[in-house]
Formats: sequence, C-alpha cells, structure tokens
Amino acid sequence: MEYISLSQALKKQFGTKVYKISLTSGCTCPNRDGKISYGGCTFCSEGGSGDFAAPFSPIEEQIKVAKEKVNGKFSSKIAEEDRKYIAYFQSYTNTYGDVERLEEVYKKAISYDEIVALSIGTRPDCIDEKVLKMLDRLNKIKPVWVELGLQTIHDETAKKINRGYKLETFEETYRKLKSIGVTVIVHVILGLPGENEEKILQTIDYLANLRPTLDGVKLQLLHVLKGTKMGEEYLKEPFKVFTLEEYTELVVKCLKHLPKETIIHRITGDGPKKLLIAPLWSGNKKVVLNALNKAIREA
Ligand code: SF4
Repeated sequence: MEYISLSQALKKQFGTKVYKISLTSGCTCPNRDGKISYGGCTFCSEGGSGDFAAPFSPIEEQIKVAKEKVNGKFSSKIAEEDRKYIAYFQSYTNTYGDVERLEEVYKKAISYDEIVALSIGTRPDCIDEKVLKMLDRLNKIKPVWVELGLQTIHDETAKKINRGYKLETFEETYRKLKSIGVTVIVHVILGLPGENEEKILQTIDYLANLRPTLDGVKLQLLHVLKGTKMGEEYLKEPFKVFTLEEYTELVVKCLKHLPKETIIHRITGDGPKKLLIAPLWSGNKKVVLNALNKAIREA
C-alpha cells in the first residue's frame, strides 16, 4: 500500500528536501505549571515531549545550532544555500505565554529565507482569539502548521493520562484553526493503557471523518519513560505494551483507515533511548522502521 509521507509532501510542496529544526519558544505547559494540573500528561517526560529541542536562548542562536545539527542529513549534492528548513517549536505548549513575545519569536524565525514554514506544537485549550489572530498573521507570511497532541478521542483514557481537556475542546479549536487556513496536524499515541486495537482505530476513524479535512497525522508508539508518572505506574504494575509485530500490523491498519490524501508525519516515535522503559524493541529505530516499511510495502 502507499501513503503520503511528510518528506514526500515537503518535496512536492517546496521542490527540495526540507528538514525540521527543533527550537524552543520558552513557554511552559499549563498541565505542568498548575494552571490545569502540576503532574502533566502521565507519559510526558521532563523535556515536555520535545527531548531533542535546543535549550531556550535567542532565536538566532537556536537556529544556527539547530541547522548545524540537521545539516549532516542533507545529501552533499544539495548546496548549503539551497537547504530548506521548518522551524519546529515542539516542546511544551507553544501558544501558552505572552502573545506579543511569541509573535516576535515566530516572526524572527520565519524571516530567514531558508525557513519555509513554521510548525507550532500546542494544546487545543491554549488557543484563544488572540492566539488565533497571531497565527492568522503569521500564516500570511509563511505557511503555519499547528500540531495538536490529541493522543486519543476517548475521554476515559484522556482522564487516565491526565491530558486535561475534553474532546469537545479539540473539536472547537480544530474548526477555528481550519477556518483561518492554517495546516493542522494531530498527534495520536498508539498503545495507551486500556486502549486495544478497536479503540485506537475508533480514534483513527474519527480523524479520517473530520470536516474540514485534517491535513496530517503523526502516529506515535507509546514510549513508557523513566521520570514519568506512567513509568512509575508501569514499574509498579506493568501493563500490556505492543510487540513489534503487533505494532506494525496496527500501523498498517491505521494507514488503511485514513484518507489517501492525509499526510503521515510519522509512523513511530522518537523517544529518548536513555529514558526508555518499554517497549524495549522501540529503542532500535532502524529495525522498527525497516519492519514498518516492509509491512506497509506488502500490505
Ligand atoms: S500538554 Fe504536552 S508538554 Fe504538557 S504535559 Fe502534556 S505532553 Fe507534556
């Protein structure tokens, strides 16, 4: 079977290879600083789900360091001046903070010619009218992507993982974001405790049927990590985690349930290896990607 991967979509849109560079906006998260809760989502590690991001420093410095980090991935045939990037603000909640300050940071990031788009990871309950207006203004300069960590449509799982908002909040924000024309990408975690294949596919079907149509999906394997509430729970009472075979089968099913036009940003996760508790096979990214690509090719 075939699907549109992010790298294919980017090549088509920008005519060349584009890499994301991980940057930090300096925001915290309301699910960690007490506004919603102090605990955070139970799977989230201290890095706020962005363990590879640069530490907060002036954005120019961050961009320089982050570009150096990914430059090794480009083919040597692509000259340095032709390399394109997406400014990716992944960790914590990047619309939770002073909007004027944030707009300045984001504007500066997209003022670079080689930065072709802006990607902002956030929560649907942290996008008010002021933020929407900012996103609208930025989207007129360069394409803006908003990445929402929905993880599941099931409110009972959301409660268990302390996500801190209801599905209706997602729906409302989703419609508002689509109405201003930004690109929306939804993150889903496969393998949350208490969720079997049926429940996961209900989330996928829900996303497949969203109107206006969803732009992209990021499928992520659940990584149980040290230093997280879920890690503690798992060590006390291990719950079922997928085997590699189960996971590859499930990813194939998810892809089959999604419309062909949906851009698939990821088919697995990228958890910090040193913190990984389970499933241990996920620490070998090459093996995982090979197994996934083989299963998808043969499906
Ligand atoms: S909303 Fe994001 S940063 Fe905040 S606790 Fe949840 S996963 Fe972590």
